[in-house]
Amino acid sequence: MSNDIEIPHLDSTTLQNLISYAVSFSAANGLQVQTKSSSTADSNTNSNTYITAPISLLPQSYPSHLFQRGISLSRPLNLLVEKISQDGEFLRETLKDVRTVDEYTGKLLDLYEAIYMKQDGEFARSADRLGILRSDYMLHSTVADGGKDQYELKQVELNTIASSFAGLASTVANLHRFLTQRMDDGGKLNLFLEENHQCVVRDARAENGVGVPESPAMSQLPLAMFLAHERYCQRFVKNDNDATATTRRPVVLFVVQPNETNTVDQRLLEFALWNNHQVPVVRMSLGELYNKAVLDETTGKFMIQSDNGADESSSEEVAVVYFRAGYAPTDYPSGYNAEDGSGIEWLARERLERSRATKCPCLGYHLAGTKKVQQELARPSVVERFFPEDDGDTSARTIRTVFAGLYSLGADATEQDINAVKDVLLNNAQDKYVLKPQREGGGYNYYGKNLADKIRENCTINEQTIELDPSLSEFILMERLFPPQQRAILLRNGQVEGSGMTISELGCFGTILATEDSEIVHNEYGGFLLRTKFSGVDEGGVASGFATLSSPYLC
Ligand code: ADP
Ligand code: MG
Ligand code: MG
Repeated sequence: MSNDIEIPHLDSTTLQNLISYAVSFSAANGLQVQTKSSSTADSNTNSNTYITAPISLLPQSYPSHLFQRGISLSRPLNLLVEKISQDGEFLRETLKDVRTVDEYTGKLLDLYEAIYMKQDGEFARSADRLGILRSDYMLHSTVADGGKDQYELKQVELNTIASSFAGLASTVANLHRFLTQRMDDGGKLNLFLEENHQCVVRDARAENGVGVPESPAMSQLPLAMFLAHERYCQRFVKNDNDATATTRRPVVLFVVQPNETNTVDQRLLEFALWNNHQVPVVRMSLGELYNKAVLDETTGKFMIQSDNGADESSSEEVAVVYFRAGYAPTDYPSGYNAEDGSGIEWLARERLERSRATKCPCLGYHLAGTKKVQQELARPSVVERFFPEDDGDTSARTIRTVFAGLYSLGADATEQDINAVKDVLLNNAQDKYVLKPQREGGGYNYYGKNLADKIRENCTINEQTIELDPSLSEFILMERLFPPQQRAILLRNGQVEGSGMTISELGCFGTILATEDSEIVHNEYGGFLLRTKFSGVDEGGVASGFATLSSPYLC
C-alpha cells in the first residue's frame, strides 16, 4: 500500500512528516529488525540488513487504571511462577495428559523430573533461578453500561521463556512520546488521539490524556541479569581454587535461534548489560552449544569455547543462561530419540540445565508458563494452593481477577469444561472461544470454524454426552477476549501497511531471582509492551508478522 491514504484528522503532509520522523527515529535508536534473508545460520554473522521494526505510527489510548493494574500484578505473578516451579507434583499431575500427546512438553517434563525430582541433578538444584516473565493482557468488554462498553483487564497468557520486545518496546514508547509531544502540529494529533480516547473508559483521575509512560525495561532486565551474575560470582567464582587474577569474568550466555530476525531487541539487552554493569554476553545456538560447551561433572561448572582458539584460556565460564531459543519444537531440528537420547539440541539443553549456572528460565519456570498450567490455575482453589494466606497484593484473589474462562479438553475435563465444548458444538458459539495448543510464538491457535471443526473431528457426540478424544488433551479452550477497537496506522518496513480499526495486547514484564532455598532476592515489575494488530487478524505476535509494536497513551 502506498503512503497516500486518508486518515481522519491527519492531512497527508502531517502524515508524511510523522512517517518520516518515525523512520529516522527508528534508525537513530535501533528500532529495527533484521531482514529474513540477511539472518544466517551463524549467530554472529556480520553481513546484516536492518529495517524499521513493525510499528504503529501513533500510540493507542489505554485506561490508566487498567495499565496500573497490569503493572501491579507483575510481582505476584513472578512469585506464582516461582512457587509452581518448585511443586513437581503439581506440574507432573497437571501435565500428565499433555505429555502423552505432545512430545515437546513431554520432553521438558521428562527432563524436569530427571533433574529436579530424582537424585541426578544436584548442581541444577543448587542453582539460583532467574525469571524474566511477560504477562499479556487484553481489555475485555463486559457489561454494556448505559450503551457504553465497560472493559476489564484479562490475561491472555503468561510467558516465562524468551519473553521478547522489552528493548524495542521501550524505544517505541520513546518514539511515541517524541511524536505526540514534539509533532503535535496545531492539535491535529490530539484530535486523532481524542477519537481513540472515546473507545476506552478513562481513569477518572486522568481527565486529559497523560501521555505515553516510560518503560523501565532497559534498566530492569539488565539489572535482574546482573544480580543473578553477581550472586553466581559470589557463590562460585570467588571460592574456586583456580580463581586467580587472570580468570576471566564469567559471561551471560544468550541462547539464540540461528535464523533470528529480532536480534536488535536482544542486542539492546546485551549492550545495556555491558554499559550498566560490565557483564559480558556470548551468543550461541543450541546446535553450536552442543559442539562448544562442556559441563564439568565434578563442579557443575558450564564452560563454552569461544571462537578464537581451542585452548583452556579461550574458554569462558557461564554464570547465567538466558534462553531466547528453545521454546519451540523447531528449535530442536535434530529431533528427539528417547531410545538413544539423540538430538543434539536437546542434549545441549540438558547439559545447560544440569549445570550450576542460573537459568532464565529453568525448566520449572518454563513449564509453569505452559497453557495447560494456565488453565489449571483458573480452577477453583488452585492459585490458592500457592498463596494459602490472603495477604493483600500477592493474594490469589487479586491474581484471579484477571483470569478469563479457561477449559480443559483432557481426561480431567469437568462438567463445566464439557459445557464449553457443548457451547461450541451445539450452540454454534465457536466465536466466543479460542483453541490453543501448548505452543509459543504465535500462529498456532484455532478460531471460529476451524476451532469447531478441530473439536468436532476429535470427539464423539452421543445424544447428550460428548466424549473427547485423547488427542485434544494437548489443547486448552479459552474464552475469547474482545478488546476495544481503535484507529491506527500500521507500518511495516517503514511503509504504511494500512490504516484502520485495530485491537491491542498489553504485556507487563516482571523479573524475579530466587535462591535454591526459595529465598526471593529480587522481585520487580520490569516494563511494558503494547502490540497492535488489525481487528480482523486473529493471531498475535510481532515476529510472526501479525502485530506491530505500539505503546499505551494513558488516559
Ligand atoms: P503464544 O504463546 O503463541 O503467543 P497466545 O496465547 O498469546 O499464544 O496467543 C497468540 C495470540 O492469539 C495472542 O497474541 C492474541 O492475539 C490471540 N489470542 C490468544 N488468546 C486469545 C483470547 N482468549 N482472545 C482473543 N485473542 C486471543
Ligand atoms: Mg506465549
Ligand atoms: Mg502470546
